[in-house]
Amino acid sequence: MPGCLVWGEQRTKECSNWRDDGHEECTEWRDDGHSECQSWDKNCCDWWPCSWGCKLITWFCTASVWISSWVCIAAVWVSSWVCTAWAVVTTAICLMWDVVVTIINAVVVTIESILGWVWSAIAAIIAVILSIPILGAFIRWIISLATAIVWTIASIADTIAGLLGIRPEKLLRVCPVILADERSRPVDTIDHAVDQLQAAAHLLKREANIRLVPSAPLQYVTGFSGTPIVTKDWITVLDREPGDSDTLDPPCDANAFGADLGVAGSKFNLLMTVHCFYGGWRRLLGYGAPVSVFFVRSVKPSKDGCGTWIVDFVTVAAQPMPTSQDLRRVACHEIGHTGNLWHLGATDNADNLMATPRPMVTDVMNYRLYDWQVLLLRASKHVSYF
Ligand SMILES: [Zn+2]
Repeated sequence: MPGCLVWGEQRTKECSNWRDDGHEECTEWRDDGHSECQSWDKNCCDWWPCSWGCKLITWFCTASVWISSWVCIAAVWVSSWVCTAWAVVTTAICLMWDVVVTIINAVVVTIESILGWVWSAIAAIIAVILSIPILGAFIRWIISLATAIVWTIASIADTIAGLLGIRPEKLLRVCPVILADERSRPVDTIDHAVDQLQAAAHLLKREANIRLVPSAPLQYVTGFSGTPIVTKDWITVLDREPGDSDTLDPPCDANAFGADLGVAGSKFNLLMTVHCFYGGWRRLLGYGAPVSVFFVRSVKPSKDGCGTWIVDFVTVAAQPMPTSQDLRRVACHEIGHTGNLWHLGATDNADNLMATPRPMVTDVMNYRLYDWQVLLLRASKHVSYF
């Protein structure tokens, strides 16, 4: 079912729940008022004209309770009707936008599948130059910052639509790569990589109506299909290319920035240029820039993974710490970092995807995103319609 419809259905349900709750509150309020009037009446004096005056007040009390309870019910009905009508209208706009995007996307994907190779070849030459440690890294960061600002500003209209409840499907391209150790043995299994990405595909689609797609040619997609199924052919396994500790055990703390400035940053940049060649031109311009997901041996100091806003890749540790928890959130959490999201304290946000330290969640599908996180993520340069 298209994301627009699922969301519209949810909100229509919320409207009717709200109506039912409101209706119940009005009735309760009426009953309370009614019994108050009755108890007043019970304590009435029995001598005239006191009894007459007292009865008059009882009558007035009962009448006003009835009238105001009807006003209450009418207000609840009207507002729930407006709520439902709004949900229907925004869902219709959302679906129409999905239709338009599907058509334009078919054209864009076709053109990109033919010409994207040439554009990416040009981008690759620039990327190699930018792989020079320190100076190249500084220029990479400036380009990354500039494109992030430009594309976030460009998506303001979309963010406003999102605030109003119109959130058509957007795309997030990924390029997953399993690195190999010093003796050319892959450091992780394809199954683990697929599991991680499938969890990300589920969560991003359900929470933010974002479709995870491999950064590859001929990826025709539409908002009218369900959650994408991640398959083994999404994943590149480097089994003939020995790695070294710079990329196999990268740091994720204050040292991460130092590492990106230095040789490790150059190496990751070259890995992306070679193994995520197809999305190269997008990486340079920032529009719909693919996120490269590197499955590495470990992330120092004993982390599950790492994602930094300023770079186009994330790392996921091959050997997650032994625990009874569902650890499939790592890739999605790190992708969240590249998509404008930061950590939230774990105490009050126990089921949030960005909560840290990682909460005790036994099923990855229980992770949620707040509304404001969804809007920030959808505004990211990595998330686009085309
Ligand atoms: Zn994190």
